[in-house]
Amino acid sequence: MQVTLLGHREKENINMSNMYKNVKTWSPFVGCGFSCKYCIPSFQRQLKRVAGMIGCDLCRDYKPHTHPERLNKIPSAPTILVCGTGDIAFCKNKYVRQIIDTIDAHKPRKPKLYYLQSKNPACFRPYLPWLDEKYILVTTLETNRDTGYAEISQAPPPSIRFADFYALNYPRKVVTIEPVLDFDLDTFTNWILSLMDQDTLQYVWFGYDSKRCSLPEPSTEKAQRLVDILKGHGVEVRGKTLRGIRV
Ligand code: SF4
Repeated sequence: MQVTLLGHREKENINMSNMYKNVKTWSPFVGCGFSCKYCIPSFQRQLKRVAGMIGCDLCRDYKPHTHPERLNKIPSAPTILVCGTGDIAFCKNKYVRQIIDTIDAHKPRKPKLYYLQSKNPACFRPYLPWLDEKYILVTTLETNRDTGYAEISQAPPPSIRFADFYALNYPRKVVTIEPVLDFDLDTFTNWILSLMDQDTLQYVWFGYDSKRCSLPEPSTEKAQRLVDILKGHGVEVRGKTLRGIRV
């Protein structure tokens, strides 16, 4: 997943998200092995600075690892990005169970939403029986194109990721098209609209690469067309790094 630095850094609970309003990231697990090209100069570099402050070499190297001392420190925000400083696909099932137990035992004054995000959405499968309405599942689909994707990321190719996300029997899903990569308009819109038809899609995030990592990007006209088609079918599109695209 990619989130960007908001500026508020706590020693124990690192808030690194301005992607979602009123969101704080809670990081009892940190790290990822998908090595997305666009993550290294942005998100991982930011975490490296935080790692220096807290003295964690594993955070500095972005190696998957746990921070159990953070388990009982769920931030005070309406929405919590669970393990947002990494990808939960690299977290052991037993520890995910602990995270979910902690959330379930947490009794905030106002109900919260908890986002679980992964670029390998198949990893959510064993957790589905544990989840209730306070959880939203998120995956990133930057494109529909598998060809050349391995040069961008070691995550499952987009077609597998979409199929796995679609197959999850879960009623609350969000797709992040960010950073958008060049795509095939018909296929890509059909993927998103099929989630709409499934009645699981809450909304879509859309945005260009904010760090200019020389990614293969669609033209603004094509990107606008995608957004317009989605909106025309009733999909809520939320924007970030829009470069003139109207959402
Ligand atoms: S999947 Fe991993 S490497 Fe890719 S953007 Fe997310 S955290 Fe970074």
